[in-house]
Amino acid sequence: MRNSITDRVTLHNGVEMPWFGAGVFKVEQDVTARVVRDALQSGYRMIDTASIYGNEQGVGDGLRESGVDRKDIFLTTKLWRHAHDEQEIFDQFDESLRLLQTEYVDLYLIHWPKPMFDQYVATWKAIEKIYKSGRARAIGVSNFNIPHLERLAAECEIVPMVNQIEFHPYLVQTDLQQYLQAHNIVLEAWSPLAKGRILTDPAILGLAAKYGRTPVQVVLRWDMQKGIVTIPKTLTRERMIDNADLFGFSLSETDMTLIDRLDCHLRTGPDPDVFDKR
Ligand code: NDP
Repeated sequence: MRNSITDRVTLHNGVEMPWFGAGVFKVEQDVTARVVRDALQSGYRMIDTASIYGNEQGVGDGLRESGVDRKDIFLTTKLWRHAHDEQEIFDQFDESLRLLQTEYVDLYLIHWPKPMFDQYVATWKAIEKIYKSGRARAIGVSNFNIPHLERLAAECEIVPMVNQIEFHPYLVQTDLQQYLQAHNIVLEAWSPLAKGRILTDPAILGLAAKYGRTPVQVVLRWDMQKGIVTIPKTLTRERMIDNADLFGFSLSETDMTLIDRLDCHLRTGPDPDVFDKR
């Protein structure tokens, strides 16, 4: 069901994850608590951060200040530095929990595969252990392409529950999308608004006028109808509320296809095969 902001998709381990949440990439530490509090108080139940964003402390503060029960919130963070030594992975995870001021996360992701260093298999094995300890209710990856996922399938025990990838009407990655669906891995879209670029596309503006909705609502509704989890970012409380108002209308099949046809393989972020930041 995708009829309200609280509806959830069931991951392959049985954990339920909201279809819709708020991302906090590039949100400064000192405004993060306010953004997270606003999101949770506006009905959002999922927050997406990462150790490299440098704002986990602010996320933790926002969670606490929101007054929303921790068990009702789905919290994701991501591991930055790969390592063959599992203790290095455990230490990074512990530090995230400390900053987030929580005893567990709902989803822990490897942020990038960084295949040139050949450490993501060892890193995933350490993350499997964190999962088995119960301190991450679900585990997954981000920016993994099919060959990276196939190596995990061949050499590891647990299939990732989620792959968080760049996904918006300009970049739909059809082969990867089909692979994820076939392997019961949930696709979570990062930069679902193409960092705002999609909002001035003439086709999206035309559909917004046709449905009497905002361009953001049209794009996020397209995701919802495709069964894609989204985590748009905004600093503004009014926009948060407005962006989430996407459950009271449906795009026709013809208009869904019209948006599908906007794909032009445009990345707003790095290519995972060459991204090598340590
Ligand atoms: P988005 O595609 O969500 O776009 C964010 C931009 O859209 C901001 O400039 C925001 O401006 C603008 N915007 C939002 N709502 C509106 C609106 N109603 N009207 C006009 N403009 C609007 O970009 P992100 O890159 O932030 O991606 C979302 C999340 O995905 C991140 O926050 C992060 O959590 C995750 N992510 C993960 C990555 C990964 O490698 N795993 C990489 C990148 C992102 P304003 O804030 O001023 O409203």
